[in-house]
Amino acid sequence: MAKFVFVTGGVVSALGKGIAAASLGNLLKARGLSVIMQKFDPYLNVDPGTMSPFQHGEVFVLDDGAECDLDLGHYERFTDTNLSQINNLTCGRVYETILTKERKGEYLGRTVQVIPHVTDEIKRRILLPAQEHPDVDVVITEIGGTVGDIESLPFLEAIRQFRLEMPAIDTASVHLTLVPYIAAAGEIKTKPTQHSVRELRSIGIQPDFLMCRADHAIGEDARRKIALFCNLPYESVFEGQDVKSIYQVPLNQHEQQFDRLLCERLGFETTEPELGDWERMVSVIVNPPDKVRIAIVGKYTELKDAYKSIIESFIHAGIPNHVGVEQVWVDSETLEGDEVGDRKLREVFDDCHGILIPGGFGDRGIPGKVNATRYARENKIPFFGICLGLQCAMIEMGRDLVGLEMANSAEFDASALHPVIHLMESQRGVTDKGGTMRLGSYPCVVKPNSRAYHCYGELEIAERHRHRYEVNNAYRAAFEEAGVVFSGLSPDGELVEMLELPTHPFFLAVQFHPELKSRPSRPHPLFREFVGAAVEQQNLARELAAKKKDEQPKPENKTSQPAEPAGNTTEETAAG
Ligand code: GLN
Repeated sequence: MAKFVFVTGGVVSALGKGIAAASLGNLLKARGLSVIMQKFDPYLNVDPGTMSPFQHGEVFVLDDGAECDLDLGHYERFTDTNLSQINNLTCGRVYETILTKERKGEYLGRTVQVIPHVTDEIKRRILLPAQEHPDVDVVITEIGGTVGDIESLPFLEAIRQFRLEMPAIDTASVHLTLVPYIAAAGEIKTKPTQHSVRELRSIGIQPDFLMCRADHAIGEDARRKIALFCNLPYESVFEGQDVKSIYQVPLNQHEQQFDRLLCERLGFETTEPELGDWERMVSVIVNPPDKVRIAIVGKYTELKDAYKSIIESFIHAGIPNHVGVEQVWVDSETLEGDEVGDRKLREVFDDCHGILIPGGFGDRGIPGKVNATRYARENKIPFFGICLGLQCAMIEMGRDLVGLEMANSAEFDASALHPVIHLMESQRGVTDKGGTMRLGSYPCVVKPNSRAYHCYGELEIAERHRHRYEVNNAYRAAFEEAGVVFSGLSPDGELVEMLELPTHPFFLAVQFHPELKSRPSRPHPLFREFVGAAVEQQNLARELAAKKKDEQPKPENKTSQPAEPAGNTTEETAAG
């Protein structure tokens, strides 16, 4: 029989509840327990798939095609497990289930109410992962939102009932709060935490553990005060101070013995976790021996959460390459317009050792992405295109390499003369927006001896998708003639999943989202090799710079050695 941990948050949102929960999952797993994590979100959308990245950040897609909250990405990365649709529940889906039953008459004439029907459905979902995986030891359920929100109430009430109905040793409650530092007074304040716990207790949930987020040290006195006012033993109040890398959080929790106390609270007899590998990994992340700069040309650059998994994938990929990846965010709309020539692009990408075009929807910012792609291709700067990034590469190469001046995607111009990207057959006639894209994991056959094969080292892979458009097969032969290699195809050969340019140091684009499968312990091969290519690019640029410096006339024999004529020798490594 599994045990259940509930993670709630108070005071303010964005405290890193998902990371705190995922870190606990990581430690329990390191203690030999089998852990499943899930997230309950109080909003009324059935899933976040229809929400703008500006509203919600990235939509994280699972193997089974579930479109989820980005915290599921943290869970997968920290616990190195693959989750499924049942691990993300929204209030919208709770109501959808209940209303479908109601229409079928399954409530037998009864009035359908929040208590007991909504809470019963939530309790059923708390248990579901343990029923589907009978060998699981712990289910960690994180509740989105903040205690005190009207919309969180049914979830908290369900947890209260659930805890009451289970033996006390089978459930635990972890509450995350903020302990702010008031600069004018020069001290930290515990009152918001006290209020947040009072609010939670008024709903009937006494937390077992408190994780106090702070940007200043909390100290023993304040911890004692919090423990006293919140009705908790001192050891159950933990400090969660800001850290350089989210991957340090499990180590911080372990240092304070959070995992040991949680296991004791739940009656698990476990051994101390072996965290050596994790520590070594964190030390490279926090103190990388070197760094490279990679430009990300996107549309949602003000909201980094929109590209959460890409950011994490770069952190992972830096580890085997012994570098930190500095991300240079470029708003693609700044790269369009008549005045954007090579000079402007050179200015923007100066000092960048790679260019990535991430996924996206709609025509805004496309000309800028196409310009960036051309610049990377012509100047032999490592290029990685993801989903929309592949589609931009098709448009750019269609226009400049294949000679299809009007090449475009049907997404941006339905009557394009050369729709090198068009709607997938399976998408024709689809009008509903929610959950209707090509979603989830699909197999892909990799071309032997291609760069893609060199990266994966396998001829058959599977990657996660989220798109409606695809490469138009009518143009494939023309692209191949121009030197493009379609190095990844669906097993029936009908869908292009990867393309590359063998004449370029690294020009690779994929129709899927590799960032969704990268883990800190297993960086994604495509990100790993792309960062590797950026490192090479940087080395070349350094060598060139050193050579130039050497060749510069020494001050004493200035007149005797003429300088190299200023040619376009730096053209190829302009990014360096
Ligand atoms: N808008 C494109 C499509 O639907 C690309 C989607 C994406 O980048 N995720 O095919």
